[in-house]
Amino acid sequence: MYVCGPTVYGPPHIGHGRFTLVWDIARRWYTFGGLEVTYVSNLTDVDDKIINRARDEGRSEHDVATEYEAQWFEAMDAIGVARPDEAPHATHYVSQMIDLISQLLDSGVAYRTSDGVYFEVSRVPDYGLLAGQPLDSLRAGARVEALEEKRSPLDFALWKNAKPNEPRWEAPFGDGRPGWHTECVAMSLQLLGDGFDLHTGGLDLKFPHHENERAQAVALGHTFSRYWAHNGMVMVGDQKMAKSLGNFTTMAELLVDTDPRAYRLLVLRSHYRSPLEVTPSTIADAERALARLDGLARRFALPRLAGPKLERASAFTWAGAGDELYRAVAASLDDDLDTPTAVAKIFDAVTAAHAAADRGDLDGATGLAGAVNALCGALGLSLFGDADDVDETSAGLVAARDEARARKDWAAADRLRDELVSLGWTVEDGADGTLIRR
Ligand SMILES: [Zn+2]
Repeated sequence: MYVCGPTVYGPPHIGHGRFTLVWDIARRWYTFGGLEVTYVSNLTDVDDKIINRARDEGRSEHDVATEYEAQWFEAMDAIGVARPDEAPHATHYVSQMIDLISQLLDSGVAYRTSDGVYFEVSRVPDYGLLAGQPLDSLRAGARVEALEEKRSPLDFALWKNAKPNEPRWEAPFGDGRPGWHTECVAMSLQLLGDGFDLHTGGLDLKFPHHENERAQAVALGHTFSRYWAHNGMVMVGDQKMAKSLGNFTTMAELLVDTDPRAYRLLVLRSHYRSPLEVTPSTIADAERALARLDGLARRFALPRLAGPKLERASAFTWAGAGDELYRAVAASLDDDLDTPTAVAKIFDAVTAAHAAADRGDLDGATGLAGAVNALCGALGLSLFGDADDVDETSAGLVAARDEARARKDWAAADRLRDELVSLGWTVEDGADGTLIRR
């Protein structure tokens, strides 16, 4: 699978977090079921936005791209997105792009203008397939541009002629740099081969980026990707969250006081194609749901799974109610990755496992709890059942609170609870006194 990756010119925001989580979940699920998945996701390290930032900050494009690539992987690691098998950089594929553009010029579907090389979209008979609109209606909606040499406003730049103080490469059709839509064609065909299975990205890439990628490949006689899938956007009110709109929360900001697993669960609870509202209340909801899963892991002493590791179903034992759960969850996930339904079934099983244990059916309860853990692991969600390391100060506050409660000094107990919360603990009242967890 080929996942259109980021342009590395700023810190990743929670919209990026969502799209990487969605495709990480897909990859994990395919792997769990026994497929061998090759996951390729590119890094765009030459682009107007990078050039502008480098100029504004008086440093090189390479410097900008390197800094934000490091931030990208730091954020992805923090939310448990497994590293791609291949993470190609656009600047390492310029010679392949030049070859591709030369072939498009030779076959007459590309043409030269005074500022570069353009692709003539009307030369691809089914242009508009991904957009779901015929060429005429796309053309009617297109912005009319100043450059009169373009044969249609929909035609797009394959190559931009060199400008002073911009990165440039030598090419037979003039020195310059590639347009954005060619890199993924060159990289996916080289790394995955023609007719690869799945090409994905955010819904905002469907048109024109993916349409234009496909047009180039099809014009050269390739099948290209056999399936396409696009994830919905993270919404702020009725606007999508985007770096270019300046309305974003960075991943680093989110993770200051949100468990990264809660964000994954929030993503899992909405269908990948739907818009996702990320608000303090939807995050708090996800955190409460996560606490229920962790509670199950504590009661049944379940081992921690997932993290960077991709799990396989064959590593687990499936029997009885656990096997039924697996089949039910698989039926949902194999139907266009219906994670909300799958997660709802997992939560029903959490309730059922507790109920079975309460009535003394320990075998049944343990089997079901193990299946819940394995299926959460399949989706990249680690459950934390083991006790946290409690430092001396926190342990002292817990003891003091239990004493305060024993002498019915509720004001003191509340104050001590607040102190524990301010240290990052979640505080619960258990039968044997105060329970704290991270
Ligand atoms: Zn792409």
